[in-house]
Amino acid sequence: MRRRRAAGDRPAPGQRPAVVVVVGGGFAGLFAARTLERLLPPEAADLTLISATDHLCYSPLLPEVAAGRLDPRRIAVPLRAVLHRTRVVQASVEDVDFGRRTLRVVADHGPVDPVHWDRVALTTGSVTRTLPTPGVATYALGLKTLVEAQYLHDHVLRQLELADGARDPVERRARLTFVAVGAGYTGTETAAQLQHMTTTQRDRFPRLRSEDLRWVLIDVAPTILPELGARFGRAAMQVVRARGMEIRLGTSVTAMHHRSVSLSDGDTLPTHTVVWTVGVTPPPLVRHLGLPVRRGRLAVDDHLQLRDGVWAAGDSAAARDPFSGTDADYPPTAQHAQRQGVVIARNIAASLGHGSPRTYRHRDLGLVADLGGASGVARPLGLPLTGPAAKVVTKGYHLYALPSAANRLRIGADWLTNLVSRPIAAQVGLVEPEAARLAREQPGAGAVGHPVTGSASDGEPIAPA
Ligand SMILES: Cc1cc2nc3c(=O)[nH]c(=O)nc-3n(C[C@H](O)[C@H](O)[C@H](O)COP(=O)(O)OP(=O)(O)OC[C@H]3O[C@@H](n4cnc5c(N)ncnc54)[C@H](O)[C@@H]3O)c2cc1C
Repeated sequence: MRRRRAAGDRPAPGQRPAVVVVVGGGFAGLFAARTLERLLPPEAADLTLISATDHLCYSPLLPEVAAGRLDPRRIAVPLRAVLHRTRVVQASVEDVDFGRRTLRVVADHGPVDPVHWDRVALTTGSVTRTLPTPGVATYALGLKTLVEAQYLHDHVLRQLELADGARDPVERRARLTFVAVGAGYTGTETAAQLQHMTTTQRDRFPRLRSEDLRWVLIDVAPTILPELGARFGRAAMQVVRARGMEIRLGTSVTAMHHRSVSLSDGDTLPTHTVVWTVGVTPPPLVRHLGLPVRRGRLAVDDHLQLRDGVWAAGDSAAARDPFSGTDADYPPTAQHAQRQGVVIARNIAASLGHGSPRTYRHRDLGLVADLGGASGVARPLGLPLTGPAAKVVTKGYHLYALPSAANRLRIGADWLTNLVSRPIAAQVGLVEPEAARLAREQPGAGAVGHPVTGSASDGEPIAPA
């Protein structure tokens, strides 16, 4: 009787095209697959990319989606549009068998056959860090996915609507109090841009006064935007404070409740909106692999390799940053993820006899932060910029960094339109509250298994009905 061939005893690469699988279609994954297409001829490798979403989410522009300045699809780069030879599979990888060199994969309709690999790249990104703060999982709103950004946009507009109709001044005050927790670039940009949206839309709600709007930005750290340095933190603070934002530093959230949030300074703020942006952590798959980690991220060497035939890059991977002056790892940013994606592709190709391996070394180019209106702060290549100059550099950088001309064109057109016309402020109600739960358990929230139709929030955070 003919023995069925097991996944583990396939002919070796060289006798057939090597099977190269990239897990994750974000910055690291997309750039890895694109580079592999360039470096490896079709007869040398079959390329597959498995990702929970069918697109790369250009997350640096998520705050603009939340603020209604861009439609969600503008920042979604379809993987199939930019990859030409790679087989794209929309599914979640649940486990990696390193001995048999297979992946356990689950698609929308259920488990599919294990996928064999000769070389695998793990680029599964990160999910929102929740901390063991009571109530966060139930009441906090995140900003890590397109679904969350769209939900947050609708939710904030809905608060204006409900406050406008509220007779009870206590309820009105709570609905018009918006709290953002975490003052890194995600939290600060999001709070600043949403505050700008509520301020500029307020005149369409005749019963609301500007002074009724209250935005509070909270962080346990002594400054905001620590990634940009103390000077820029102060500059950004001046901008948002001048617009009326309260900034509470050295303060943390001790608990979140149905309609309020408790702070470490003993204060309780009645609110229906808490945006939670306290940082990221790798997704469940990384923890599940049982491989060495640093701060939860897969500990890779300076070639971004984990073990024989396995590489990792992006937010999921911890690679020592020789430029940090300490033993810190490279920060989890798109800037590094994208460049690491290219390096793992080069190293995978080299392992198959095409080119030579590279180490990963990249000195940070600096960060940019758009604060809404004409304001921004940026430190491109160490050059300090604030105000409209920073804003122009920020926009220019994003257009340059977007990996698709079609997205670039549409975003550029939207930005020009926003200069002469207010963004369309309408709740489209496409996201179910359940689908917008903090994207921590399901890696590709908004993709596999996530409903994206239904009614908008009734104004409650994502608490059970
Ligand atoms: C609001 C916001 C603003 C930001 N602004 C900036 C900025 O200005 N500059 C900057 O440099 N960085 C910024 N970042 C950080 C940047 O987005 C990340 O560092 C970057 O996305 C990391 O790239 P990645 O490829 O590692 O992960 P991602 O881009 O997150 O991609 C991971 C991919 O893996 C998929 N995936 C996860 N688990 C699985 C699985 N088990 N099976 C299959 N697929 C899976 C996901 O669906 C996703 O497609 C920002 C992030 C956010 C949230």
